[in-house]
Amino acid sequence: MAKYQGKCPECGKTRYSDRKGDIVVCDCWRYCPMCGAEMTPYASDIAMNTYGFDDRRDLAVLMVCTLHFPMFFSNQKPVEVVCT
Ligand SMILES: [Zn+2]
Ligand SMILES: [Zn+2]
Repeated sequence: MAKYQGKCPECGKTRYSDRKGDIVVCDCWRYCPMCGAEMTPYASDIAMNTYGFDDRRDLAVLMVCTLHFPMFFSNQKPVEVVCT
């Protein structure tokens, strides 16, 4: 039974842990905020060469949802939730 909990500031979900002060990484960053599908890890070289998004090199794009046109690029980082 998890005794401690923390709330993800991004998605509002509550994460649980048995240990106080434990850090749980919320998985909401892996899912597309527009359609809820699990996104694909962003392979910069592929997208760069194919689509010429050279200007996106500066944006820390981590994940991409290919279900949209243009594709949705996410720079949302994993959220660490501290359980207290
Ligand atoms: Zn979250
Ligand atoms: Zn999507």
